[in-house]
Amino acid sequence: MSKVTILLEGYVRGDGETVQATVTLVQDNGHNIIVDPGMTHDPRAITDALSKHDLRPDGIDTIFITHHHPDHTRYMGLFQGARLYDYASMYASDKWLDSGDGYAITSDVKIMHTPGHTSEDATLIITNVTNIPEKSPCTVAICHLWWCEDKDDDPTAENMEQLRESRKKVIAAADYIIPGHGGMFAVKDK
Ligand SMILES: [Zn+2]
Ligand SMILES: [Zn+2]
Repeated sequence: MSKVTILLEGYVRGDGETVQATVTLVQDNGHNIIVDPGMTHDPRAITDALSKHDLRPDGIDTIFITHHHPDHTRYMGLFQGARLYDYASMYASDKWLDSGDGYAITSDVKIMHTPGHTSEDATLIITNVTNIPEKSPCTVAICHLWWCEDKDDDPTAENMEQLRESRKKVIAAADYIIPGHGGMFAVKDK
C-alpha cells in the first residue's frame, strides 16, 4: 500500500521564462520519497509543503529525479541524508551503484527508463496507491513525458519519436499520470 501526494503543482508560463517543477511525495513501507525537488516560486516552498505533512527534510530518505535538467533537480541538496535515484543509478554518500530500468526502490515503487525528452529520462511507477478516492488501489506514473495534461508536443524534447514510444509504455502501465509541470490526470486512451 502506497500514497502519492503532490506537494507543489508545476507550471510553465510565458515562453518558458517562468517555470516550476511538479514536486511529489511518495510514501511506501516506511519510506518517504521526494520526486523532482526542482525550481520553485520560493526557496522555502518544498520544506513548507513537507511540514504540512509533518515531515522535515531529514525525514526524506530517497530522492528520485525524472531527468537531469535543473528545473527538476535544483533543491536536491536540501535532503543531505537521502539516497538519490535517476534513470540508471543510485547515489548515496560516496557510493555510485547500478539500478535503472525495472529497479524496485520499494515493493510498490519501480523505475522505468522512458527516454525521449532526454535520453536519460525515467518514470517512477507506483502501484497499490490507496489515497486517490476515484480509484483505489491504482497505479500512478510520475514522469516528464508530458509538461501537463493535453500538451501533446514537447518543444524541448531530444527525440519526439522516442518520447511517443515511452508514452505508450507509461499509458499501458498507469491509471494516473503526474507530468513534469502540471497536475495529475487520468489515463483515458488505453
Ligand atoms: Zn527537462
Ligand atoms: Zn521540466
